[in-house]
Amino acid sequence: MKINVKAPAKINLSLDALYKRPDNYHELEMVMTTIDLADRLQLVLLEKDTIKLDVKAHFIPDDKRNLVYQAAALLKERFSVKQGVAITLDKSIPVAAGLAGGSSDAAAALKGLNQIWNLQLTLTELANLGAELGSDIPFCLYGGTALATGRGEIIKPLPMMPNCWIVLAKPSISVSTPGVYRDLRVGEVEHPNTAGMVQAIQDGSFEGICDNIGNVLETVTLAKHPEVKRIKEKMLEFGADTALMSGSGPTVFALVKQYSRAKRVYNGLRGFCEEVYLVRPWQEEK
Ligand code: ATP
Repeated sequence: MKINVKAPAKINLSLDALYKRPDNYHELEMVMTTIDLADRLQLVLLEKDTIKLDVKAHFIPDDKRNLVYQAAALLKERFSVKQGVAITLDKSIPVAAGLAGGSSDAAAALKGLNQIWNLQLTLTELANLGAELGSDIPFCLYGGTALATGRGEIIKPLPMMPNCWIVLAKPSISVSTPGVYRDLRVGEVEHPNTAGMVQAIQDGSFEGICDNIGNVLETVTLAKHPEVKRIKEKMLEFGADTALMSGSGPTVFALVKQYSRAKRVYNGLRGFCEEVYLVRPWQEEK
């Protein structure tokens, strides 16, 4: 038995951190949506009790440091699975970019293994298991557009994102997510209007999304890395309807209604940045 699963990246249409909790996580409110830029996993059932992982990318671990391996090991241990699996992971999502690549790979692995090992787990059960490995994994299991609260693991699905073009640009710097949260001063920054964003999604209003877009982590990453701020400014200059950093960065995305303008933003950014993508919101039926 062999199956293929796609693992789409996500962007944050809004990201707010309300306060720091006693367990040291921030209480979050995020609206996220999956986009048409995906890693691919192939899973092959093995009768032998082993997990094999082959990653088609440089500098990404293919052992138990990889979230895909961890997802397989967790299911094996929790449900005493005696069969094995050989997984090939083909990366297209930029790594350590704020696009949840690793989390989406883990979510795709959980879904695929649920099928291949015939575990018959529900989406809620998979999301609870995923949350043990990473806060963004439950969202990646649901996909589409959703409000994520708690430390990101409590998911409320929302209607699909209205169609538009999305230009992504990832500067070649790395950002430490724990470092960004450590430097965030929740009492001193302007907070995005999450309720406004949820309403805009419910209304299918592209303009409402542009009006309510915001990421509290920009206060940290943009201040520390002027090149991220510059990319955002360039996107707006080239004609983006709005632009925002995703997650803790460093990827910045632009939303653009018109294809001709999106192309202009894409071409313009390629002069500044090595990794630039032109994509659309994820369509489930594809
Ligand atoms: P997030 O948006 O959730 O913060 P990210 O896009 O910033 O995620 P990832 O691409 O998921 O970050 O990877 C961060 C680190 O996790 C990498 O440096 C890598 O070593 C490790 N990692 C573990 N599993 C994977 C995977 N399947 N794909 C990519 N990186 C992985």
